[in-house]
Parts: sequence; C-alpha cells; structure tokens
Amino acid sequence: MKIESKLQTISHPLFEKHKVAVSIKRDDAIHPVISGNKWRKLKFNLHYAKSHHYAGVLSFGGSFSNHIHALAFSCQQQGLKCIGIIRGEKEYASNFTLSMAQQWGMELHFVDRKTYRLRENKDYLAELQQAYPDYLIVPEGGSNELALTGVGEIITELNLQGQFDTLLTPVGSGGTLAGLIQADNNQHNLLGISVLKQDGYLNEQVNELLVDSSNYSNWKIMSQFHCGGYAKFSEEDIKKIQNFNQQTGFTFEPVYSGKMILALMNLIEQHYFPKGHRIVLLHTGGLQGIGGLIERGLLDAEDWLIPTFQ
Ligand SMILES: *Cc1c(COP(=O)(O)O)cnc(C)c1O
Repeated sequence: MKIESKLQTISHPLFEKHKVAVSIKRDDAIHPVISGNKWRKLKFNLHYAKSHHYAGVLSFGGSFSNHIHALAFSCQQQGLKCIGIIRGEKEYASNFTLSMAQQWGMELHFVDRKTYRLRENKDYLAELQQAYPDYLIVPEGGSNELALTGVGEIITELNLQGQFDTLLTPVGSGGTLAGLIQADNNQHNLLGISVLKQDGYLNEQVNELLVDSSNYSNWKIMSQFHCGGYAKFSEEDIKKIQNFNQQTGFTFEPVYSGKMILALMNLIEQHYFPKGHRIVLLHTGGLQGIGGLIERGLLDAEDWLIPTFQ
C-alpha cells in the first residue's frame, strides 16, 4: 500500500526533560495547502461518487472551512463538479478560503444560519437531493462511514512506520477520531483534544459514527484544552504555539493542531505520560486557515507564513 505521509521525530527540551519520545504523523504534508485529515475523509467519498457515476458532490461548511477548501480541490482533481452550501453572506465569496474554492470550480450557495442549521434534517436533505439529483451529498466536515475508512488508513500506515503507545489528535466533529478508533481496534491509546467548547455531545457523536462502539475502550476526549471555544485563543496561547513552531521547525496553526500542542505540553508537565512513553501527534493540517485568520486580523501576518497554492 502507498504510505501517504511520513512519521517524523520531533525534539523539544520538554520532551527530553520528561523522557517522552514524540513523533509527528505528517498529514499536513500530504498537500501544500489541503488539510490532510479532510483529504483522508474525502478520499473514499470521491471514489464512491465516481464509481456510482455521480456528476458531483455537494457539502456544507463555514466560510473558512478546511473541508470546503479540500472538497473543492479534490473534486477538481477527480473531474467532479461540486457545490458548497456555505453559512454566511455572499461577501465572503472573496475571502482567502472561498476564493480558492471558487477558483477550483466550486459553486457556492450562501445560506443564513437558520437554513444552515437544517444541514442534517432529513426533509431538507431530500429537497437538496431532488434539486441536485446527480450530486452525492456529504455531511459537514465530511464525517460519514466512508470518511472513517479513509482515516483508518492512517493507522495502517503507522503500524508499518513504527511502534507507539499513544496517538493524539485534535477533535472537531469527531469523524477523524472515530476512524482512528475503528482501525486501531484497541491496539494503542487514542487521545482526542476537543477544539470546541460545547463538546459534551462529542463522545456520543463518536459512538454514533462507530459501527459497534462497545468494541472499543482505548479512547478518550479531553475537553479542557479548547482555549475558550472554536477558533478562540489568547495572545499567550498564540505565543506558546509560535514558540513551539520556532523550536521544532514544524508549523501548527491555532484552530486545531495548535490546541493539540498546548494540550501535549500541559499533559507532559503534569506527568500524564510515564517515562519512556512513545507519543504520536497526528498533524491534521489546516494550515490554509492561517490565511483566513490573518485576513480577519486574528493573527499577525508578519509572524506567520501564509500557505499558497503552487
Ligand atoms: C476538521 C479538522 C479537524 C477535526 O476533524 P474532525 O474529524 O471534524 O474531528 C482537525 N484538524 C483539522 C486541520 C481540521 O481541518
């Protein structure tokens, strides 16, 4: 099988001090701009769309969504049409994320918050399917059964790449974690770091995505590292992530992977991991999001490299 991303050792004084071995699964490097975990989640959805002769794919997202961004790119590559149902106003069409999505051929349909909330409603979905009969409808964030299969390949690859005890991943909708849980089948500890504040339902959501959730006991979602909520962070959080990036030479952004880094450091300082523990960080990507954060004045352009498409 093809190994899609490297496993690289990462060093930091804190890891040495506490005698833990940390490596990164570089899903951020699967593509220079596309979020690795969204690519994993879309892979088999797009195969399905092609093999079942759909003309295109329709999905949902916010105006800076990594999923929408990855969907537009992947559909263009696969020769599929695509529609993005976007929460927000038409003016957003020219932002960092959506301007690229449009360039790759995505048709954008802007809807208000109330309509957007219907994105899992059966009647609304039936209506959309009727309006676009030859489009495969994929849920927000791409999280469905086919996504789990795609994410599961991360575990298959890791098993060929080295031994480890705990795998850390950021958690948004839970699709990525669910895919890891299923493929890992209780071999390792899986630790999800929630990037959302209202995450009480996340355990449930992961269980719902798993075909037989009672089979798996090796996972846990930590909810104390969201830094105030989705895409929220303090200046101090940003500084810590930036310092970490500088010290290690890798880039973690503050919405997803950076929160995993803050969690990792905190847990190591609290002696959460025993000496000699081997940790793998799943770098899910999301670096295109930096462009949008700069655009909104939430990050300083001087401090961050904006990933550009090449
Ligand atoms: C969407 C996303 C996640 C969260 O994945 P879920 O499957 O929604 O939990 C993590 N990291 C990045 C970069 C993402 O874009």
